Amino acid sequence: MSEQTTENTDVITGIEAPIYLKYNFTAGAAPARFLTQVKEGVLTGQRCPQCAQVYVPPRGSCAACGVPTEEEVVLSDKATVQSFTIVSIPIPGNSIEPPFVVANLVPDGANISFIHLMSECDNADVHIGQRVQGVWKPQEEWGYSMDNIRYFKPLDEPDVPVEKIGKIPVEGWEG
Ligand SMILES: [Zn+2]
Repeated sequence: MSEQTTENTDVITGIEAPIYLKYNFTAGAAPARFLTQVKEGVLTGQRCPQCAQVYVPPRGSCAACGVPTEEEVVLSDKATVQSFTIVSIPIPGNSIEPPFVVANLVPDGANISFIHLMSECDNADVHIGQRVQGVWKPQEEWGYSMDNIRYFKPLDEPDVPVEKIGKIPVEGWEG
């Protein structure tokens, strides 16, 4: 009787199965309102009735207090760099060439940062506390997206001290 081998050299340990998913994202009431106004060239946040923090983009509630945020606050397209990174890989579908800077920016009038691109500057000159302003696409290209702002560029204004970023209304702040 021949011995049956249990060894199988053709064991499949994994397969590659590339997939493509297309889906629709439902923004919700507060972000939908935000995006509707971005389409008109206006940035808005919402203020918490308890702690007064201004959220952008608004989510409809304060993460710290757990209460609804309903007061709308119109924000500037001027902002302060809170942190940043230099990216060395391309963004799929975006023509921007690496290396480029992605920054957390706190818009004037808000306490929370959002992420956006920086340009019209040397990457090496970008720094925390730097004042910047949005460079918008032509109005006919505006949609329901923060991409209406092409990128942020440096302003010739004094830096905001680190401990004051997102802590004060920066508009009108005189170093
Ligand atoms: Zn709050």
